[in-house]
Parts: sequence; C-alpha cells; structure tokens
Amino acid sequence: MRKKYMLVDLFSGSYNEENIGYELLNDQKNPITGKYYGYLPPHDNPNILELGASSADGFIDDILVVFVRKTANTSIDRRVIGFYPSALVYKEKKGGEESARKFRDKDGSIKTASYSMESEEYYPVSSEFALVIETKKYNSYMFRKQRVYAGKYPELDSIIDDYIERLIDGEKLEDDIIAQQELQEISGASAQAVRNAPNRKVVFENQISGKKVLRNPQLAKSAIIAADYQCEVDSEHQTFLNKHGKPYMEGHHLIPCTVKNAREIEEQFRRNIDCKENIVSLCPICHRAIHLGNRDEKRRVLTNLFSKRQPILNEIGINITEQDLLRLYGVE
Ligand SMILES: [Zn+2]
Ligand SMILES: [Zn+2]
Repeated sequence: MRKKYMLVDLFSGSYNEENIGYELLNDQKNPITGKYYGYLPPHDNPNILELGASSADGFIDDILVVFVRKTANTSIDRRVIGFYPSALVYKEKKGGEESARKFRDKDGSIKTASYSMESEEYYPVSSEFALVIETKKYNSYMFRKQRVYAGKYPELDSIIDDYIERLIDGEKLEDDIIAQQELQEISGASAQAVRNAPNRKVVFENQISGKKVLRNPQLAKSAIIAADYQCEVDSEHQTFLNKHGKPYMEGHHLIPCTVKNAREIEEQFRRNIDCKENIVSLCPICHRAIHLGNRDEKRRVLTNLFSKRQPILNEIGINITEQDLLRLYGVE
C-alpha cells in the first residue's frame, strides 16, 4: 500500500492537562460537517512538498496522518494513539471560525482552533494495540518539530505501513464477522428480495470509529441463496450446516463496502455497491483468504471471482477492470 504519511506528535511542547491546545478537537467529529479537523502543532502550516505536493498546490489529498504521544512524561519514546487513514492536508492553516471549533482556554478566554488537516474518518488506537516508536533508534530529536514526514526514516516507513495496514484489516474483519452473524439469523424462507438495490442511494451511518456504509443483511442472504449455498470460488468446497439446515456460507462484498469505495462507485456509475450483484457467496476459508491471505492468495481468489462477476457487474452498470479491483485490495 505504501502511502505518504506524516507522524504528528501531540500533547507535548508547553501544554498541560488544563490546556492541551488546539489538538483537543483532532479526534472529535465536527458536529456540523461530520468530518474530523486536525490541528498540527506547534502552529499548523505543514510542508506539503514533503508529502508529494508541488509548489503550486494549496493542499494534498489521501495522506495518512498518524498521531503519537509520549509513552510517559519522562520518556522520549512515542506511542501511536490514533490516525486519519486518508486526510486532506492544507498548505496553510484554516481559521475554523465557521465550523464550531471554539473552546475555553485555561485563562477562561474563548479561542478558536485552527486546523490544516481534514478527514472523513478517525481511528483511535487503544494502548494494547499501540505501536511504540523508540526514538533513539532513529534520532532522539526526531519529534522536536512535532511532525515527521514519510521518507525521513526509511526503516520507520515500512513499520508504519505494515502496522496501519494490519489495523485497518482488523477493523474490516470485525465488521465482517458481525455482518455474518446477522446474516445467519435470516432463514432462506424469510429472506426478502430487496428490489432495485443497485439504484438506491448509499446510506451512511456513524459509528464510534467513523462513518460506515449501511449494509442490508437481506442482500447478502439473497446472494447466498442465488449461489445455492455454494462457494463461488469452487462449488466443491465443503462447510457445515447452519441452524436452518443449509450449508454455511458467508457473504462478501467484492468491491469492498468502504465509505471511499461506496462514494466513488456512486459518483462514477450512480450505483450502490451494497447490492446482490456485488456480493459473493464464499466458504469461510476462501473468505478468510481474501482478508488475511498473502498477496498471491488474495490475487488468486479475487481474479477467480472477478472473472465470474464482471458480466454481472457490467449488467447493472458498474464497469471496473480486474486491475481496478486488485487495486482496491492493494494487490495489483
Ligand atoms: Zn469479507
Ligand atoms: Zn471456498
């Protein structure tokens, strides 16, 4: 995946408990727009050239922003506390007056927090999963300017990359397992056909970790019924009987049901990816291979499924190539 990123050190400098500074809003969803706006200490204004922008650009999009803080007051090591998976980063800070960014400073005055990052999602990282960056390994003063750009410490780049990828996969997997459970509750007889699903507007719901695409479990169920309770990679794959006496199969969105994908497909083709045509019936092994397999395994399962599904996706007006699909899984 290897994305441009920026490490941002929070809660250091001269801040204390009562006055942690403008970054107190970084992990708060803005009540007006539903987005996250991030302040970049010590005074915003990132060097977006370091992130791949050219000097004429006013911003750069799709930047991974990883927030860190000291592991302890007396330590120089940092731990990851959260991240924006894909932020827009402005060259110059924004005032924030128009977007509910007022807060009370420790002297009682009301301040408005500026920002220079904008993100649809924020993922907090609990301390048990936190990556610790041992600064001495790289440079004891690496956080002196409170920001570190990708490329400065190449060894760190791959560590950050792997770590974030694992976190994102973990989150997707958990979502998926909850969806499978819901899906198994529906018996074949009660599964209702949802008419015209590809043409419905995408619905988003807000969850703790950010915005999600609302999925209808009935759709996954009807995809499994349409596949006659067989694995679409290979109909010979055996599972076990579920509580309704049918072979256990899982539903998987071939174009993954992320906010980004749902928006892009809706914009480009006016279609909702939460539809039967985009859901494949898989045995648990093939399903896990897609999420957790190595590159070759993922590619093997995905190219197999794509060859079968491309005509069906085309029929409802979603025209993507195998290359496009593999790119969505980071294995092109
Ligand atoms: Zn899945
Ligand atoms: Zn299978």
